[in-house]
Amino acid sequence: MNVSFDKSTLRYSLPNKLLCIDDNRLIPPFEEEVNEMGVCSECGGLLYSFTYHNFQDYKAVVCRCGDCSLLRIILFDPAWEWVGEYPVSIIENASQDCTNLVESNSISDIENIAAIKLEAVFSSREIEAMIQKSKGEKYVRQYLYNARKKYPRFNELFGYYLEI
Ligand SMILES: [Zn+2]
Repeated sequence: MNVSFDKSTLRYSLPNKLLCIDDNRLIPPFEEEVNEMGVCSECGGLLYSFTYHNFQDYKAVVCRCGDCSLLRIILFDPAWEWVGEYPVSIIENASQDCTNLVESNSISDIENIAAIKLEAVFSSREIEAMIQKSKGEKYVRQYLYNARKKYPRFNELFGYYLEI
């Protein structure tokens, strides 16, 4: 069974129960049901389903471990055969984070991003260079270069693809 999506981009918004795949698809649940879904790979606790989403021909079930609260996505084929289990990162609010991504698929104006998030990953000089670059101003190439190396980390933490 082949399923084509970028497994590193799975995100889930708890408040509005939207699954975000490939950064540009927001998938609302077609069902919300609590079922036992297997065993947590981290702690051995029981995984319980949370929401069910249609994805391509597949069913993606968002599960939460009853013990350690880890969220996982379990993918099933159309015959409900198990395809795979994937980690999923939580985003606070899909209507903010993901809808931006639906529109642009990336963030090129970092002033839309809270400073506290930027400061968690980048140095003040790197942030300065990113702001200058996004405004078309002069910037120190070395700082931007250093910042760019951290973009994957920033995406991992906060779900923004930076394109600066
Ligand atoms: Zn667990």
